[in-house]
This record gives sequence, structure tokens and C-alpha cells, in this order.
Amino acid sequence: MQRWQPAYIGLGSNLDDPSGQVRAAWERLTELPATRAILRSPLYRSRPFGPVPQPDFVNAVAGLLTRLAPEALLAELQALEASLGRHREGPRWGPRRIDLDLLIQGRERREGPGLTLPHAGIVERNFVLYPLADIAPDLDVPGLGRVGELKARLAPEGLWRIEPEP
Ligand code: AMP
Repeated sequence: MQRWQPAYIGLGSNLDDPSGQVRAAWERLTELPATRAILRSPLYRSRPFGPVPQPDFVNAVAGLLTRLAPEALLAELQALEASLGRHREGPRWGPRRIDLDLLIQGRERREGPGLTLPHAGIVERNFVLYPLADIAPDLDVPGLGRVGELKARLAPEGLWRIEPEP
């Protein structure tokens, strides 16, 4: 077990009551081993990009303190996705209802096949940077810069906050 580190998780869903899925995933984050779930951003609605027509997403970012190593935390998140995100009725796995990304953990920087830190999509995703800025505007993202400054470079296009700020 290593020292306590802050970690930030991106949550997203666009199937089967997305707001409920994101809230349920947050509740499950509070139960992770060797981890304290500290706070969650307000929920946002975001328009999906890409050619595939699909429903809007609901997104949020959670701030944790954890003693898990990044690989162990990612494994916990993937197990959570599996337990929350798949239809269990019927013989086949259905679509995933929840996406959990390990955005940032402490000062960790790595690029691997299974884990890239900070998460590769942070700087171009307004649905990550806006909620992250709600809970950690002064955070310095390793190698990338301050959250508030990264956010200021991205328009809130296709993004709506759907919960008041706490
Ligand atoms: P996705 O289905 O878009 O959530 O992508 C999951 C894949 O991305 C998995 O194979 C992970 O191993 C990989 N991955 C790499 N870095 C990260 C990260 N920081 N957080 C979550 N998944 C990651």
C-alpha cells in the first residue's frame, strides 16, 4: 500500500437514466477499499460528438484520496463499470451504461498500453475540464497546466450544467 494521493475520476453515462447511473457510480466510489471519496462536481449534460447518433451524456468528476496504486485503482474502476454498467438479463452482455476514467493521480505521469496518466483526453474535453474546474480549479495537471487555464481555452459548446453548484 502506498501513501495517500489525490485522484480524479471522470464519470459518464448515456443509457438507462444517465443521471441515476452517475449518482450510483459516485455512491460506489465511496465504498472503494483504501480510498475516501471526497467530493463530486455537479452533473453536466453533454452532447456526444462523432458520427454515431446517440443520446446526450451526463458527466461529472469525482475527487478521491486513495492509497491504491494507479493500476489497482483502475482495476477497481473497471470492476465497478462491469458491475454497474452491463445488463445482466439475457445471455449476452448489453451496452455499457457507465464510463469511469482515471483522469489524474497525484503527480503520476505514464504512458502505457493499459494506463495513461494524466488521461489522454483531458485537454480537449469540456465535459471533463468544466466539472473538474468546479472542484479543483487550481489543480496543476502534470505536464499540462492549471485546470482553470485549460478550461479557459475550451468553449462550453454542447455542455450544460444540470445541477446547481454546491
Ligand atoms: P474506455 O472504454 O474508453 O473507457 O477505455 C478503456 C481503455 O482505456 C482500457 O483499456 C484502459 O486500459 C485504457 N486506459 C488507458 N488509460 C486510462 C485511464 N487513465 N483511465 C481509464 N482507462 C484508461
